[in-house]
Amino acid sequence: DAFIVKVSKAKALNAFIVETPDHAIAAAKAADDAVAAGETLKPLAGVPIGMKDLFCTKGVQTTAASHILEGFVPPYESTVSHHLWEAGAGMLGKLNLDQFAMGSSNETSHFGNVISPWKRGGGDNAPLAPGGSSGGSSTAVSARLCPAATGTDTGGSIRQPAAFTGIAGIKPTYGRCSRWGVVAFASSLDQAGPMAHDVKDCAIMLEAMAGFDPKDATSLNLPVPKWEEGLNPDMRGKKIGIPREYRVDNMPAEIDALWQQGIDWMKDAGAEIVEVSLPHTKYALPAYYIIAPAEASSNLARYDGVRYGLRELPDGANLQEMYAVTRDHGFGDEVKRRILIGTYVLSAGFYDAYYTQAQKVRTLIARDFDRAWLECDYLLTPTAPSAAFALGEKADDPLAMYLNDVFTVPSSLAGLPAMSVPGGLDKNGLPLGLQIIGKPLDEQGVLNAGMAIE
Ligand code: GLN
Repeated sequence: DAFIVKVSKAKALNAFIVETPDHAIAAAKAADDAVAAGETLKPLAGVPIGMKDLFCTKGVQTTAASHILEGFVPPYESTVSHHLWEAGAGMLGKLNLDQFAMGSSNETSHFGNVISPWKRGGGDNAPLAPGGSSGGSSTAVSARLCPAATGTDTGGSIRQPAAFTGIAGIKPTYGRCSRWGVVAFASSLDQAGPMAHDVKDCAIMLEAMAGFDPKDATSLNLPVPKWEEGLNPDMRGKKIGIPREYRVDNMPAEIDALWQQGIDWMKDAGAEIVEVSLPHTKYALPAYYIIAPAEASSNLARYDGVRYGLRELPDGANLQEMYAVTRDHGFGDEVKRRILIGTYVLSAGFYDAYYTQAQKVRTLIARDFDRAWLECDYLLTPTAPSAAFALGEKADDPLAMYLNDVFTVPSSLAGLPAMSVPGGLDKNGLPLGLQIIGKPLDEQGVLNAGMAIE
Protein backbone atom coordinates (compact mmCIF):
# COMPACT_ATOMS: atom_id res chain seq x y z
CA ASP A 1 0.00 0.00 0.00
CA ALA A 2 2.83 2.38 0.86
CA PHE A 3 4.23 2.07 -2.68
CA ILE A 4 0.80 2.55 -4.26
CA VAL A 5 0.33 5.78 -2.29
CA LYS A 6 3.83 6.98 -3.20
CA VAL A 7 3.22 6.32 -6.89
CA SER A 8 -0.07 8.20 -6.82
CA LYS A 9 1.60 11.18 -5.09
CA ALA A 10 4.60 11.38 -7.39
CA LYS A 11 2.71 12.43 -10.52
CA ALA A 12 5.01 15.44 -11.02
CA LEU A 13 7.89 13.12 -11.95
CA ASN A 14 5.73 11.61 -14.73
CA ALA A 15 7.40 8.22 -14.30
CA PHE A 16 4.21 6.18 -14.81
CA ILE A 17 2.00 6.17 -17.89
CA VAL A 18 -0.60 3.89 -16.29
CA GLU A 19 -1.01 2.87 -12.64
CA THR A 20 -2.20 -0.66 -11.86
CA PRO A 21 -2.62 -0.80 -8.06
CA ASP A 22 -4.98 -3.80 -8.24
CA HIS A 23 -2.27 -5.91 -9.82
CA ALA A 24 0.19 -5.09 -7.02
CA ILE A 25 -2.47 -5.68 -4.35
CA ALA A 26 -3.36 -9.09 -5.77
CA ALA A 27 0.30 -10.16 -5.56
CA ALA A 28 0.59 -8.86 -2.00
CA LYS A 29 -2.55 -10.77 -1.00
CA ALA A 30 -1.25 -13.94 -2.62
CA ALA A 31 1.96 -13.53 -0.60
CA ASP A 32 -0.02 -12.98 2.62
CA ASP A 33 -2.11 -16.08 1.91
CA ALA A 34 1.04 -18.12 1.32
CA VAL A 35 2.44 -16.95 4.67
CA ALA A 36 -0.84 -17.78 6.43
CA ALA A 37 -0.86 -21.25 4.87
CA GLY A 38 2.74 -21.82 5.93
CA GLU A 39 3.88 -22.25 2.31
CA THR A 40 7.39 -21.47 1.12
CA LEU A 41 7.42 -18.00 -0.38
CA LYS A 42 8.21 -17.40 -4.03
CA PRO A 43 11.41 -15.42 -4.72
CA LEU A 44 9.54 -12.15 -5.40
CA ALA A 45 6.44 -12.86 -3.30
CA GLY A 46 4.39 -9.67 -3.06
CA VAL A 47 7.14 -7.39 -4.39
CA PRO A 48 5.56 -4.44 -6.25
CA ILE A 49 7.56 -3.59 -9.34
CA GLY A 50 7.32 -1.12 -12.23
CA MET A 51 7.13 -2.41 -15.82
CA LYS A 52 8.69 -0.40 -18.62
CA ASP A 53 5.82 0.27 -21.03
CA LEU A 54 7.63 -1.65 -23.76
CA PHE A 55 6.59 -5.00 -22.27
CA CYS A 56 3.20 -6.23 -23.39
CA THR A 57 0.96 -6.83 -20.40
CA LYS A 58 -2.25 -8.74 -20.91
CA GLY A 59 -5.28 -6.50 -20.48
CA VAL A 60 -3.18 -3.42 -19.64
CA GLN A 61 -2.49 -0.71 -22.22
CA THR A 62 1.00 -0.98 -23.74
CA THR A 63 2.18 2.05 -25.73
CA ALA A 64 6.00 2.10 -26.08
CA ALA A 65 5.33 5.79 -25.19
CA SER A 66 4.07 6.36 -28.73
CA HIS A 67 0.80 7.90 -29.91
CA ILE A 68 0.60 5.19 -32.56
CA LEU A 69 0.08 2.52 -29.88
CA GLU A 70 -2.20 4.60 -27.67
CA GLY A 71 -5.16 2.47 -26.65
CA PHE A 72 -3.45 -0.80 -27.59
CA VAL A 73 -4.36 -3.43 -24.99
CA PRO A 74 -2.37 -6.61 -25.65
CA PRO A 75 -4.31 -9.88 -25.48
CA TYR A 76 -1.06 -11.56 -24.36
CA GLU A 77 1.66 -11.25 -21.71
CA SER A 78 5.37 -10.85 -22.52
CA THR A 79 7.47 -13.80 -21.41
CA VAL A 80 9.56 -11.64 -19.06
CA SER A 81 6.54 -10.15 -17.27
CA HIS A 82 4.93 -13.60 -17.16
CA HIS A 83 8.07 -14.93 -15.42
CA LEU A 84 7.94 -12.07 -12.91
CA TRP A 85 4.30 -12.73 -12.01
CA GLU A 86 5.11 -16.45 -11.69
CA ALA A 87 7.84 -15.47 -9.22
CA GLY A 88 5.23 -13.68 -7.11
CA ALA A 89 5.81 -10.04 -8.12
CA GLY A 90 2.97 -7.57 -8.73
CA MET A 91 2.79 -4.56 -11.04
CA LEU A 92 2.43 -1.00 -9.75
CA GLY A 93 2.08 0.36 -13.26
CA LYS A 94 3.58 0.88 -16.71
CA LEU A 95 6.63 3.12 -16.80
CA ASN A 96 7.33 6.00 -19.16
CA LEU A 97 10.20 5.74 -21.65
CA ASP A 98 11.59 7.30 -24.80
CA GLN A 99 9.23 6.60 -27.68
CA PHE A 100 9.95 3.04 -28.93
CA ALA A 101 13.02 3.18 -26.63
CA MET A 102 14.74 5.62 -28.98
CA GLY A 103 16.57 8.22 -26.95
CA SER A 104 18.86 8.90 -24.02
CA SER A 105 16.83 11.39 -21.96
CA ASN A 106 13.19 10.25 -21.99
CA GLU A 107 12.32 13.41 -23.91
CA THR A 108 10.94 11.61 -26.97
CA SER A 109 7.95 10.14 -25.09
CA HIS A 110 4.48 11.02 -26.38
CA PHE A 111 3.43 11.24 -22.72
CA GLY A 112 5.92 13.95 -21.82
CA ASN A 113 9.38 13.75 -20.34
CA VAL A 114 10.15 12.14 -17.01
CA ILE A 115 11.85 14.36 -14.42
CA SER A 116 14.80 12.94 -12.50
CA PRO A 117 14.35 13.07 -8.72
CA TRP A 118 17.92 14.49 -8.55
CA LYS A 119 18.90 18.17 -8.53
CA ARG A 120 22.25 19.86 -8.84
CA GLY A 121 23.38 21.38 -5.57
CA GLY A 122 23.81 25.10 -4.93
CA GLY A 123 20.21 26.13 -5.55
CA ASP A 124 20.28 25.10 -9.23
CA ASN A 125 16.73 23.91 -9.75
CA ALA A 126 16.96 22.99 -13.44
CA PRO A 127 14.99 19.77 -13.95
CA LEU A 128 17.37 17.02 -15.01
CA ALA A 129 17.04 14.18 -17.50
CA PRO A 130 16.55 10.77 -15.90
CA GLY A 131 18.46 9.17 -18.78
CA GLY A 132 16.86 7.04 -21.44
CA SER A 133 15.29 5.20 -22.76
CA SER A 134 14.36 3.56 -19.42
CA GLY A 135 13.83 6.95 -17.75
CA GLY A 136 10.56 6.06 -16.04
CA SER A 137 12.25 2.97 -14.60
CA SER A 138 15.31 4.86 -13.35
CA THR A 139 13.20 7.59 -11.78
CA ALA A 140 10.68 5.25 -10.17
CA VAL A 141 13.44 3.20 -8.52
CA SER A 142 15.62 6.17 -7.60
CA ALA A 143 12.67 8.08 -6.09
CA ARG A 144 11.76 4.88 -4.21
CA LEU A 145 8.35 4.61 -5.85
CA CYS A 146 9.14 0.92 -6.35
CA PRO A 147 11.95 -1.35 -5.14
CA ALA A 148 12.79 -2.53 -8.67
CA ALA A 149 11.72 -2.09 -12.27
CA THR A 150 12.24 -3.70 -15.62
CA GLY A 151 14.24 -2.00 -18.32
CA THR A 152 15.33 -2.80 -21.83
CA ASP A 153 18.71 -2.01 -23.33
CA THR A 154 19.44 -1.75 -27.05
CA GLY A 155 22.45 0.55 -26.86
CA GLY A 156 22.58 1.53 -23.20
CA SER A 157 18.99 2.14 -22.12
CA ILE A 158 19.32 0.28 -18.83
CA ARG A 159 22.85 1.36 -17.96
CA GLN A 160 22.85 5.08 -18.78
CA PRO A 161 19.59 5.90 -16.92
CA ALA A 162 20.81 3.81 -13.97
CA ALA A 163 24.03 5.87 -13.95
CA PHE A 164 22.10 9.18 -14.15
CA THR A 165 19.95 8.33 -11.13
CA GLY A 166 22.38 6.51 -8.83
CA ILE A 167 20.94 3.00 -9.11
CA ALA A 168 22.14 -0.34 -10.51
CA GLY A 169 21.07 -2.01 -13.73
CA ILE A 170 22.28 -4.97 -15.77
CA LYS A 171 21.86 -5.84 -19.41
CA PRO A 172 22.43 -9.60 -19.60
CA THR A 173 24.00 -11.50 -22.50
CA TYR A 174 21.89 -11.18 -25.65
CA GLY A 175 19.41 -14.06 -25.55
CA ARG A 176 19.20 -14.50 -21.76
CA CYS A 177 15.80 -12.78 -21.50
CA SER A 178 13.11 -13.56 -24.02
CA ARG A 179 12.13 -10.74 -26.37
CA TRP A 180 8.69 -12.28 -26.90
CA GLY A 181 6.05 -9.66 -26.17
CA VAL A 182 8.60 -6.84 -25.92
CA VAL A 183 7.84 -4.11 -28.47
CA ALA A 184 10.75 -4.44 -30.91
CA PHE A 185 13.22 -1.63 -31.60
CA ALA A 186 16.37 -3.29 -33.00
CA SER A 187 15.89 -7.03 -32.65
CA SER A 188 19.55 -8.07 -32.83
CA LEU A 189 20.38 -5.71 -29.92
CA ASP A 190 17.28 -5.52 -27.69
CA GLN A 191 17.68 -7.16 -24.28
CA ALA A 192 15.59 -6.88 -21.12
CA GLY A 193 17.12 -6.51 -17.69
CA PRO A 194 16.47 -5.30 -14.16
CA MET A 195 17.01 -1.89 -12.55
CA ALA A 196 17.17 -1.77 -8.75
CA HIS A 197 18.91 -0.17 -5.80
CA ASP A 198 21.78 -2.61 -5.56
CA VAL A 199 23.51 -5.51 -7.21
CA LYS A 200 21.82 -8.14 -5.07
CA ASP A 201 18.33 -6.95 -6.01
CA CYS A 202 19.38 -6.97 -9.67
CA ALA A 203 20.57 -10.57 -9.30
CA ILE A 204 17.25 -11.65 -7.75
CA MET A 205 15.20 -9.85 -10.42
CA LEU A 206 17.31 -11.14 -13.30
CA GLU A 207 16.99 -14.71 -12.08
CA ALA A 208 13.21 -14.33 -12.29
CA MET A 209 13.24 -12.57 -15.70
CA ALA A 210 15.68 -14.81 -17.60
CA GLY A 211 15.19 -18.22 -19.15
CA PHE A 212 14.76 -20.10 -22.41
CA ASP A 213 11.67 -19.34 -24.45
CA PRO A 214 10.82 -21.31 -27.58
CA LYS A 215 8.73 -18.33 -28.74
CA ASP A 216 11.89 -16.22 -29.28
CA ALA A 217 14.19 -17.71 -31.94
CA THR A 218 17.22 -15.93 -30.42
CA SER A 219 16.52 -17.09 -26.86
CA LEU A 220 19.41 -19.06 -25.34
CA ASN A 221 18.50 -22.61 -24.42
CA LEU A 222 20.48 -22.66 -21.17
CA PRO A 223 19.51 -23.06 -17.53
CA VAL A 224 19.32 -19.87 -15.44
CA PRO A 225 22.21 -19.84 -12.95
CA LYS A 226 21.62 -19.09 -9.26
CA TRP A 227 23.14 -15.63 -9.49
CA GLU A 228 22.04 -14.42 -6.07
CA GLU A 229 23.55 -17.45 -4.34
CA GLY A 230 26.77 -17.02 -6.30
CA LEU A 231 27.37 -13.37 -5.37
CA ASN A 232 30.93 -12.81 -4.20
CA PRO A 233 32.70 -9.44 -4.25
CA ASP A 234 36.17 -10.93 -3.69
CA MET A 235 38.25 -9.92 -6.72
CA ARG A 236 41.46 -11.71 -5.74
CA GLY A 237 42.88 -13.53 -8.75
CA LYS A 238 40.72 -11.49 -11.15
CA LYS A 239 42.10 -9.23 -13.85
CA ILE A 240 40.25 -6.01 -14.62
CA GLY A 241 40.88 -4.63 -18.10
CA ILE A 242 40.96 -0.88 -18.65
CA PRO A 243 40.32 -0.26 -22.34
CA ARG A 244 42.68 2.45 -23.58
CA GLU A 245 40.34 3.63 -26.36
CA TYR A 246 37.60 4.57 -23.89
CA ARG A 247 39.75 7.50 -22.81
CA VAL A 248 37.94 9.71 -25.30
CA ASP A 249 38.92 13.27 -26.18
CA ASN A 250 37.41 15.98 -24.01
CA MET A 251 36.49 13.55 -21.28
CA PRO A 252 35.40 15.66 -18.28
CA ALA A 253 37.86 15.56 -15.37
CA GLU A 254 35.20 14.18 -13.04
CA ILE A 255 34.58 11.20 -15.31
CA ASP A 256 38.30 10.54 -15.32
CA ALA A 257 38.34 10.80 -11.53
CA LEU A 258 35.35 8.43 -11.29
CA TRP A 259 37.17 5.88 -13.43
CA GLN A 260 40.30 6.15 -11.26
CA GLN A 261 38.16 5.72 -8.16
CA GLY A 262 36.66 2.55 -9.67
CA ILE A 263 40.15 1.24 -10.41
CA ASP A 264 41.17 1.89 -6.78
CA TRP A 265 38.09 0.10 -5.45
CA MET A 266 38.90 -2.88 -7.64
CA LYS A 267 42.47 -2.96 -6.34
CA ASP A 268 41.12 -2.80 -2.77
CA ALA A 269 38.96 -5.83 -3.57
CA GLY A 270 42.12 -7.67 -4.61
CA ALA A 271 41.96 -7.39 -8.40
CA GLU A 272 44.88 -6.89 -10.72
CA ILE A 273 44.49 -3.99 -13.18
CA VAL A 274 45.67 -4.42 -16.78
CA GLU A 275 45.47 -2.02 -19.70
CA VAL A 276 43.86 -3.53 -22.79
CA SER A 277 43.12 -2.31 -26.30
CA LEU A 278 39.79 -2.41 -28.15
CA PRO A 279 41.02 -0.82 -31.37
CA HIS A 280 37.69 -0.48 -33.20
CA THR A 281 35.89 1.30 -30.37
CA LYS A 282 35.55 4.58 -32.24
CA TYR A 283 33.54 2.91 -35.01
CA ALA A 284 30.98 1.45 -32.59
CA LEU A 285 28.74 4.50 -32.33
CA PRO A 286 28.47 5.10 -36.10
CA ALA A 287 27.88 1.37 -36.69
CA TYR A 288 25.19 1.30 -34.00
CA TYR A 289 23.41 4.32 -35.47
CA ILE A 290 23.19 2.48 -38.80
CA ILE A 291 22.25 -0.99 -37.56
CA ALA A 292 19.72 0.10 -34.92
CA PRO A 293 17.74 2.43 -37.25
CA ALA A 294 17.90 -0.17 -40.06
CA GLU A 295 16.28 -2.79 -37.85
CA ALA A 296 13.87 -0.20 -36.41
CA SER A 297 12.67 0.86 -39.85
CA SER A 298 11.85 -2.75 -40.61
CA ASN A 299 10.25 -3.47 -37.20
CA LEU A 300 8.12 -0.34 -37.27
CA ALA A 301 6.64 -1.14 -40.69
CA ARG A 302 3.94 -3.09 -38.85
CA TYR A 303 2.31 0.09 -37.50
CA ASP A 304 0.05 0.61 -40.46
CA GLY A 305 -3.17 1.78 -38.83
CA VAL A 306 -4.73 -1.62 -39.40
CA ARG A 307 -3.25 -3.95 -36.84
CA TYR A 308 -2.56 -1.93 -33.68
CA GLY A 309 -3.63 1.21 -31.86
CA LEU A 310 -4.10 4.41 -33.82
CA ARG A 311 -5.93 4.63 -37.15
CA GLU A 312 -6.50 7.94 -38.87
CA LEU A 313 -8.91 7.75 -41.76
CA PRO A 314 -9.70 11.20 -43.14
CA ASP A 315 -12.90 11.45 -45.18
CA GLY A 316 -12.45 9.92 -48.60
CA ALA A 317 -8.91 8.74 -47.88
CA ASN A 318 -7.66 5.64 -49.69
CA LEU A 319 -5.48 2.95 -48.10
CA GLN A 320 -2.16 4.64 -48.89
CA GLU A 321 -3.41 7.92 -47.44
CA MET A 322 -4.63 6.15 -44.32
CA TYR A 323 -1.14 4.62 -43.82
CA ALA A 324 0.55 7.96 -44.39
CA VAL A 325 -1.65 10.05 -42.10
CA THR A 326 -1.64 7.43 -39.34
CA ARG A 327 2.14 7.14 -39.40
CA ASP A 328 2.64 10.88 -39.69
CA HIS A 329 0.47 11.60 -36.67
CA GLY A 330 1.37 8.47 -34.74
CA PHE A 331 5.18 8.58 -34.70
CA GLY A 332 7.25 11.23 -32.96
CA ASP A 333 10.11 13.15 -34.62
CA GLU A 334 12.93 10.95 -33.32
CA VAL A 335 11.13 7.79 -34.43
CA LYS A 336 10.62 9.29 -37.90
CA ARG A 337 14.31 10.25 -38.02
CA ARG A 338 15.29 6.64 -37.28
CA ILE A 339 12.87 5.26 -39.88
CA LEU A 340 14.30 7.64 -42.49
CA ILE A 341 17.92 6.77 -41.63
CA GLY A 342 17.04 3.08 -41.54
CA THR A 343 15.26 2.99 -44.89
CA TYR A 344 18.07 5.03 -46.44
CA VAL A 345 20.88 2.71 -45.28
CA LEU A 346 18.88 -0.32 -46.40
CA SER A 347 17.97 1.09 -49.82
CA ALA A 348 19.30 -0.71 -52.89
CA GLY A 349 21.91 1.91 -53.79
CA PHE A 350 23.34 2.40 -50.31
CA TYR A 351 22.97 -0.99 -48.64
CA ASP A 352 26.55 -2.11 -49.23
CA ALA A 353 28.08 1.24 -48.40
CA TYR A 354 26.29 1.58 -45.06
CA TYR A 355 24.50 -1.49 -43.76
CA THR A 356 26.96 -4.18 -44.92
CA GLN A 357 29.86 -2.02 -43.80
CA ALA A 358 28.31 -1.50 -40.36
CA GLN A 359 27.80 -5.24 -39.98
CA LYS A 360 31.49 -5.83 -40.78
CA VAL A 361 32.45 -3.24 -38.18
CA ARG A 362 30.18 -5.02 -35.71
CA THR A 363 32.17 -8.23 -36.25
CA LEU A 364 35.46 -6.39 -35.72
CA ILE A 365 34.15 -4.94 -32.47
CA ALA A 366 33.09 -8.37 -31.25
CA ARG A 367 36.59 -9.67 -32.11
CA ASP A 368 38.20 -6.84 -30.15
CA PHE A 369 36.37 -8.09 -27.07
CA ASP A 370 37.28 -11.73 -27.80
CA ARG A 371 40.95 -10.72 -27.81
CA ALA A 372 40.59 -8.66 -24.63
CA TRP A 373 39.24 -11.74 -22.81
CA LEU A 374 42.61 -13.41 -23.32
CA GLU A 375 44.07 -10.73 -21.05
CA CYS A 376 41.38 -9.97 -18.48
CA ASP A 377 38.17 -11.20 -16.83
CA TYR A 378 36.11 -8.00 -16.90
CA LEU A 379 36.35 -4.52 -18.35
CA LEU A 380 35.80 -1.43 -16.23
CA THR A 381 34.73 1.87 -17.81
CA PRO A 382 32.54 4.85 -16.99
CA THR A 383 28.90 4.24 -18.00
CA ALA A 384 28.34 7.64 -19.61
CA PRO A 385 30.57 10.56 -20.58
CA SER A 386 28.77 12.95 -18.20
CA ALA A 387 26.40 13.16 -15.25
CA ALA A 388 22.71 13.85 -15.94
CA PHE A 389 22.20 16.89 -18.18
CA ALA A 390 19.33 19.35 -17.93
CA LEU A 391 16.09 18.60 -19.75
CA GLY A 392 16.09 20.43 -23.05
CA GLU A 393 19.89 20.77 -23.14
CA LYS A 394 20.40 18.24 -25.93
CA ALA A 395 16.83 17.77 -27.12
CA ASP A 396 17.38 19.67 -30.39
CA ASP A 397 20.77 18.15 -31.12
CA PRO A 398 20.44 14.47 -32.02
CA LEU A 399 24.19 14.02 -32.48
CA ALA A 400 24.99 15.34 -29.00
CA MET A 401 22.32 12.98 -27.69
CA TYR A 402 23.76 9.99 -29.59
CA LEU A 403 27.24 10.74 -28.19
CA ASN A 404 25.91 9.91 -24.74
CA ASP A 405 25.97 6.26 -25.77
CA VAL A 406 29.71 6.01 -26.59
CA PHE A 407 30.59 3.73 -23.68
CA THR A 408 27.48 1.54 -23.73
CA VAL A 409 27.08 0.76 -27.42
CA PRO A 410 30.17 -1.45 -28.09
CA SER A 411 29.11 -4.17 -25.62
CA SER A 412 25.59 -4.04 -27.07
CA LEU A 413 26.92 -4.69 -30.56
CA ALA A 414 28.89 -7.65 -29.19
CA GLY A 415 25.91 -8.97 -27.18
CA LEU A 416 27.90 -8.99 -23.93
CA PRO A 417 26.57 -8.71 -20.38
CA ALA A 418 27.20 -5.24 -18.96
CA MET A 419 26.15 -3.47 -15.81
CA SER A 420 26.12 0.03 -14.37
CA VAL A 421 26.67 0.45 -10.64
CA PRO A 422 26.65 3.69 -8.64
CA GLY A 423 30.16 5.17 -8.48
CA GLY A 424 29.60 8.15 -6.19
CA LEU A 425 28.66 11.78 -6.79
CA ASP A 426 30.20 14.52 -8.93
CA LYS A 427 31.02 18.04 -7.72
CA ASN A 428 27.38 19.09 -8.18
CA GLY A 429 26.17 16.19 -6.07
CA LEU A 430 24.90 14.21 -9.05
CA PRO A 431 25.34 10.44 -9.34
CA LEU A 432 27.86 8.88 -11.72
CA GLY A 433 27.92 5.27 -12.85
CA LEU A 434 30.69 2.76 -13.46
CA GLN A 435 30.23 0.10 -16.11
CA ILE A 436 31.44 -3.50 -15.91
CA ILE A 437 31.46 -5.50 -19.13
CA GLY A 438 31.83 -9.28 -18.97
CA LYS A 439 32.42 -12.32 -21.14
CA PRO A 440 29.44 -13.90 -22.88
CA LEU A 441 27.15 -15.60 -20.30
CA ASP A 442 29.25 -14.36 -17.37
CA GLU A 443 26.50 -12.38 -15.64
CA GLN A 444 27.78 -13.86 -12.39
CA GLY A 445 31.19 -12.29 -12.88
CA VAL A 446 29.66 -8.95 -13.84
CA LEU A 447 27.41 -8.95 -10.77
CA ASN A 448 30.34 -9.91 -8.54
CA ALA A 449 32.54 -7.13 -9.94
CA GLY A 450 29.62 -4.73 -9.50
CA MET A 451 29.36 -5.79 -5.88
CA ALA A 452 33.05 -5.08 -5.37
CA ILE A 453 32.36 -1.47 -6.39
CA GLU A 454 29.08 -0.66 -4.68
N1 GLN B 1 20.16 5.91 -26.62
C1 GLN B 1 20.24 4.81 -27.54
C2 GLN B 1 19.32 5.05 -28.71
O1 GLN B 1 18.67 6.03 -28.73
C3 GLN B 1 19.95 3.53 -26.85
C4 GLN B 1 18.51 3.29 -26.65
C5 GLN B 1 18.23 1.96 -26.07
O2 GLN B 1 19.12 1.27 -25.57
N2 GLN B 1 16.99 1.55 -26.19
O3 GLN B 1 19.24 4.26 -29.60
